[in-house]
Amino acid sequence: MIPRIDLHVHSQFSPCAENVSVRGDAALAVEKGIEVMAITDHGTEPQPRWLDRYFAELERVRREFEGRLTLLAGMEVDVVDGRLVVESGVLRRLDVVVASVHEIPQGVDAAGYWRRCVLGAVRSGSARVLGHPTWIYGYRVELVEGEAGAPEGRVVRLPVEHVLEVLDEAREAGVAVELNYHHRDPNPLFVKLAVERGVELVPDSDAHNLSEIGNWSWYEQALRAAGVRPEAVRWLDPGKLG
Ligand SMILES: [Zn+2]
Ligand SMILES: [Zn+2]
Repeated sequence: MIPRIDLHVHSQFSPCAENVSVRGDAALAVEKGIEVMAITDHGTEPQPRWLDRYFAELERVRREFEGRLTLLAGMEVDVVDGRLVVESGVLRRLDVVVASVHEIPQGVDAAGYWRRCVLGAVRSGSARVLGHPTWIYGYRVELVEGEAGAPEGRVVRLPVEHVLEVLDEAREAGVAVELNYHHRDPNPLFVKLAVERGVELVPDSDAHNLSEIGNWSWYEQALRAAGVRPEAVRWLDPGKLG
């Protein structure tokens, strides 16, 4: 069974949030049988300005739902140029860091940039989860055998060899790959290789809207699409966070 956890959920502290909020997310988690949830708003600068308000609200909602839900402090941190953009002192205050590559600068070798960023996240010592690893704004990401070749248009062609390198390091570093409902990511081959390489998976809604929380059938479908048996999956154990 897919574990009833969700370690990537947005709230009122994300500018792209629709109807989500710390309290609303928590209430719905309880309704949907979710046992552990992390509220992970966007970390796009060294010291996110919303941090104090976020911790205060998280504490208030934690108390309200005590005994019914484990609510974790988290953040979805941008990876730019191979580095997490939020200061490590801030990241140490969190239970869960999801590291995501959202953009690729114009004119760079896109596949090389992806590899540098994802390896940077894995080696940071701060990231616990790789966020939507094959979704990047404005691009289509494909896995290819052998040389990647020149990308045509806004396509990132990742050599399978680089993907395996990233996955092996992720396994060794204890970094998980998420199944991301919001972006319907990663692509099936990436999921298959992650499971084969023994990398942990975690079901994450990446909810910006409450309707995105707790869609268990999609996670099952994502495993089926990857040709993976649910029993073969090593799920992230939230008891081992922090
Ligand atoms: Zn994201
Ligand atoms: Zn997100």
